[in-house]
Amino acid sequence: MKKYDFAIIGAGAAGIAAAGQIARTFSNATCVLIEKDSRPGGILLQCIHTGFGLNYFKQELTGPEYAQKAFAMLDTNKTEMLLNTTVIEISHEKTIQCCNEHGSFSIAFDKLVLATGSREIPFSALSVPSNRPAGIFGAGEAQLLINRYAIRPGNTAVILGAGDIGLIMARRLVFEGMQVAAVIEIRSEPGGVKRNIQTCIYDLEIPLHTESTIIKVHGQDRVTGVTLARVNSACEPDFKTTEFIACDFVLSAIGLMPEISLAKNVGAQITNGHLQLDQHGRSSLPWLYACGNAARIFPIVDDVSSTAEEMVSTALHHDHGVCQ
Ligand SMILES: Cc1cc2nc3c(=O)[nH]c(=O)nc-3n(C[C@H](O)[C@H](O)[C@H](O)COP(=O)(O)OP(=O)(O)OC[C@H]3O[C@@H](n4cnc5c(N)ncnc54)[C@H](O)[C@@H]3O)c2cc1C
Repeated sequence: MKKYDFAIIGAGAAGIAAAGQIARTFSNATCVLIEKDSRPGGILLQCIHTGFGLNYFKQELTGPEYAQKAFAMLDTNKTEMLLNTTVIEISHEKTIQCCNEHGSFSIAFDKLVLATGSREIPFSALSVPSNRPAGIFGAGEAQLLINRYAIRPGNTAVILGAGDIGLIMARRLVFEGMQVAAVIEIRSEPGGVKRNIQTCIYDLEIPLHTESTIIKVHGQDRVTGVTLARVNSACEPDFKTTEFIACDFVLSAIGLMPEISLAKNVGAQITNGHLQLDQHGRSSLPWLYACGNAARIFPIVDDVSSTAEEMVSTALHHDHGVCQ
């Protein structure tokens, strides 16, 4: 079994930055960066809008441009990359079980960095009555389909959630020739930044329903519409204020949560869906660290890159030195 000083799971912005900083900090250390996708970059690869990199690169970039620039800084002679490879288990014996098209194999490590990003909070978490018809997507999932695979999820959408991801997807659907029948937001104001509210909603004249939520999804095999209702100050729907909106797909943009199932399965301590970490990214297991959205949800990718580097310079630098 091959052994590395450092193994990093996930080659998004966080994993790439951590690998780069490890190469710069430890001159003779061995490091492997493992990614289940065919390319490094993570969520950035599907974010083709601009708005990335102003702090870290002092330039406004699209997601793929940011990923490319970040990856170009990585010395690939010092970091072994395993693409198309999924980590399926971490063991207490400090090994990880990986699988790819050649089969399954194990890797041993001294220190492990979890940089697995986030997952979308599913629409099913809201317990909205429906016959579970086709056509209910996470907003990030739809973004992946449209921006990376050129697949249209439908013709007319209703979007639940007016944070930045919901807003950006509303604009994207319109640019791709789809209709957005409504963006529905439970709070009194959209949660996204002002620029996105203006350019993604008002400029495109998309109907915005604030203080409202979806109380039913209609359709047997395929979504045919939703019923929305106004909510009171406790965010409870008022069933006397319902309105039917026809659509053939629903995008749910109700938030992200850290993807930490591998750490959970190996017994790392978790509180309210977040790994228990100290301020430098150390978990309750002495060899496990986390950075990027796996540690906490970051709205700005620049902060993902800089905090991942900081974790290496502080926690890993100190602990690896101590253990050597
Ligand atoms: C829709 C959307 C729009 C955004 N817009 C902006 C914006 O305009 N400006 C901005 O600054 N930020 C934006 N952000 C935020 C920013 O893009 C993210 O915070 C950042 O890219 C997260 O990086 P990460 O490395 O933590 O996670 P990710 O990019 O999610 O990377 C995690 C990686 O881990 C891999 N992985 C997961 N599990 C495994 C496993 N078991 N085995 C192997 N590999 C695994 C995944 O395939 C992925 O490549 C946006 C985010 C989203 C979701």
